[in-house]
Amino acid sequence: MSGTKDFRYLITESLFKEITDKAAEEYPNIVHGWLFAERKENFGICTKFIMNTDLRKTKAHVKPRSWMRYKKSKIYNMRKFKQELGVDIVWQWHSHPSGNEKLHQIDKRILKYLSNGVMIIVIPPAPEKEQKAHLVGWYYDKRYTKKPIIEKMVFEIISE
Ligand SMILES: [Zn+2]
Repeated sequence: MSGTKDFRYLITESLFKEITDKAAEEYPNIVHGWLFAERKENFGICTKFIMNTDLRKTKAHVKPRSWMRYKKSKIYNMRKFKQELGVDIVWQWHSHPSGNEKLHQIDKRILKYLSNGVMIIVIPPAPEKEQKAHLVGWYYDKRYTKKPIIEKMVFEIISE
């Protein structure tokens, strides 16, 4: 996938609630999952999410124990979902219970290692600290440039 300029990202209200509620259920742990989307001409619409139990839930960001295994597992799983489930787009997501929508230092190191990819951040609602449910994506590419291209993917919440 190329840049994000003319491309829109959509998620239905119900799926948005489902995924942010799931992150809230696991609060204050960071949990990992996959988010599937269907590609249309100029937009992608999220269709479903599942958990990724290969990556354990933790209280804080942790470095992959093996970078190579992390990468291999990601490639293997994305290919598997695309083939077996016939989905167009597979994104990796994890929660940021802190409420920070930005990439963590470790998130950046992972993307740098992968050299290209998308990381979706799911922010659980936390009413006690007035934290609102939120979902954002980061597109990363350092394949063709010295400095990585990092673009924010803003999701539009739509009623179905
Ligand atoms: Zn993160």
